[in-house]
Amino acid sequence: MAQPTYLIVGASLAGAKAAEALRSGGFDGRIVLLGQESEAPYERPPLSKGYLMGKQDRETIFVHPPQWYTDNAIDLRLGTMATTISPGDKTVTVSTGETVGYDRLLLATGASPRRLPVPGADLDGVLYLRSVQDSERIKDTFQNASRVAFVGGGWIGLEVAAAAREAGVAVSVLEAGELPLGRVLGPQIARVFADLHREHGVDLRLSAQVSEIVAGAGGKAAGVRLADGQVVEADAVVVGIGAVPNTALAADAGLKVDNGVVVDAALRTSHPEIYAAGDVANAFHPLLGKHIRVEHWANALHQPAVAARSMLGERAFYERVPYFFTDQYDLGMEYAGYAEPGSYDDVVVRGDVTGRKFLAFWLADGRVLAGMNVNIWDVNDSIQHLVRSGSTVERAELADPDVPLDQFTPAG
Ligand code: NAP
Repeated sequence: MAQPTYLIVGASLAGAKAAEALRSGGFDGRIVLLGQESEAPYERPPLSKGYLMGKQDRETIFVHPPQWYTDNAIDLRLGTMATTISPGDKTVTVSTGETVGYDRLLLATGASPRRLPVPGADLDGVLYLRSVQDSERIKDTFQNASRVAFVGGGWIGLEVAAAAREAGVAVSVLEAGELPLGRVLGPQIARVFADLHREHGVDLRLSAQVSEIVAGAGGKAAGVRLADGQVVEADAVVVGIGAVPNTALAADAGLKVDNGVVVDAALRTSHPEIYAAGDVANAFHPLLGKHIRVEHWANALHQPAVAARSMLGERAFYERVPYFFTDQYDLGMEYAGYAEPGSYDDVVVRGDVTGRKFLAFWLADGRVLAGMNVNIWDVNDSIQHLVRSGSTVERAELADPDVPLDQFTPAG
């Protein structure tokens, strides 16, 4: 009998981790890993942090060394795009014209930067960050630009702005909301990030409405015009206004798509032989009791192991507490949990907010939905445990640094 083929579309962190998990889970059939880019799978956090700042070497960003794919008999095909899926005959057509049959298919197609919908957005000098080449282009820009404008004060805008300041570049951040990261963190904690950037010399403009990218000499971007007519001059513009899941393949194949590819807790799509993981997957989360799509590194790192087990016929569910981290200047933080705007009724802080050494918790009815540690380490496991436990906490005790976090959760 022919060997089964497990096909993974998307050779990024999620795709590479799925290949690894299939092999470590005992799968000895054929694994084909298709990647649109010409680079072997790499991790993205360094692209807006250490690698962008020149503190991390290129070799360190890759998920596996090149030899790993050969050693593990992974048929890694780079520069190869999947163009259509035919779930009925279990085949995928690829950009070379070839058709690849599969027994199980994993979609790890990721997300793409949301494009800025204003005149001039396609000018030379308007940059986005998704790929390693994008990161290298932005790094080069820092060598030559004296001022860079950032459209969007989200994770990309703020991390890259911090890297630009460290490179000595003048920075303007133009954020549509009332605060950077306001939607994720709420006003009290988002203000910490606004202050941090302003203290590092960033010209932070809030409630900014970008109406145009202004062309300068040679048709290159020379600034950003705001709705009130002001022009923020810049030698380059970095846009980080969110990402859009890459769902076209799945939608064309008739899979259920709604803010990503819809999957159950086992990461199975509406078609039983097709799975999805990473940024593109809108997965049912048993702890939260609803579907969520998470565009963070930890999700792309851990979901594939569950997808692989499901593909191998095991019973597995993805139920980790969502987690992300950031590093900006001398602020390092980790966040665990899920607290959408409107879902929490209280924010409790423990520690020194002005000194940027504190924990913050988002609560609903006395239960911790999410927690974050800023410049305090080795506590995130306890925060995750607290979120997972659903325990009710006393506000005053949660705010008290002398009360150990583990006290709020049942032993074991
Ligand atoms: P993001 O974190 O969603 O932030 C986008 C920001 O841009 C939001 O503050 C948004 O404001 C603002 N915005 C939207 N449209 C705008 C406009 N026309 N003009 C000005 N501001 C505008 O997205 P991102 O920074 O582009 O990052 C892309 C994805 O990569 C995200 O999912 C992010 O989580 C992920 N990422 C994560 C990390 C990390 O975990 N450390 C690092 C980098 C990237 P509103 O919220 O008010 O709409």
